[in-house]
Amino acid sequence: MVILPTREIKPSQRCPKCGAVHKEWAELSNRHHACPDCGFEIPRDSGSALGDVQCCDQSTTGVRN
Ligand SMILES: [Zn+2]
Repeated sequence: MVILPTREIKPSQRCPKCGAVHKEWAELSNRHHACPDCGFEIPRDSGSALGDVQCCDQSTTGVRN
């Protein structure tokens, strides 16, 4: 039996558009993410960046590289 740590949701596993969590997005070999829930598609690196921005304070502007 395997218990998944559902409380730990990383931005790289969450769709930046609809917020659905896809654990397979955490796979390093998965370079391109396509959300089956909303149809959103994005390269892995950009998806992580969007997640970081959403987690930041609203006063933070621009996208960090
Ligand atoms: Zn989605």
